[in-house]
Amino acid sequence: MRARARRGGLKSGEARRKKKVVTALIAQYARETDTDLDPASLDVRPVKRPNLSGGSHDTDWRCPFCRHYNSTKRRSCAKCFRTPANGRWTRARLRERAAERRTQAILGELGL
Ligand SMILES: [Zn+2]
Repeated sequence: MRARARRGGLKSGEARRKKKVVTALIAQYARETDTDLDPASLDVRPVKRPNLSGGSHDTDWRCPFCRHYNSTKRRSCAKCFRTPANGRWTRARLRERAAERRTQAILGELGL
């Protein structure tokens, strides 16, 4: 303990300082060689879910069996309790499709 005290607290935080130097060197090497060696920089975070609190119901999906609208937080339908396959039709997707079909209908009427 006395030996450490004589070093004036230099020992404290030594690993942290060493790590800082190593990280800087790795970063420099990565910049120069255009490679990415740092595994921490690999983005392995889970896919961020949209904030589902309040707001619109654009992420609600329509049950293909009974056409009941369910929250995106639900996997099975709240009305018929069946679980449709993936690729659910959300309100936003249904709205887009309706708009596209309206456009196509107008074009069809005009013979285009
Ligand atoms: Zn249903």
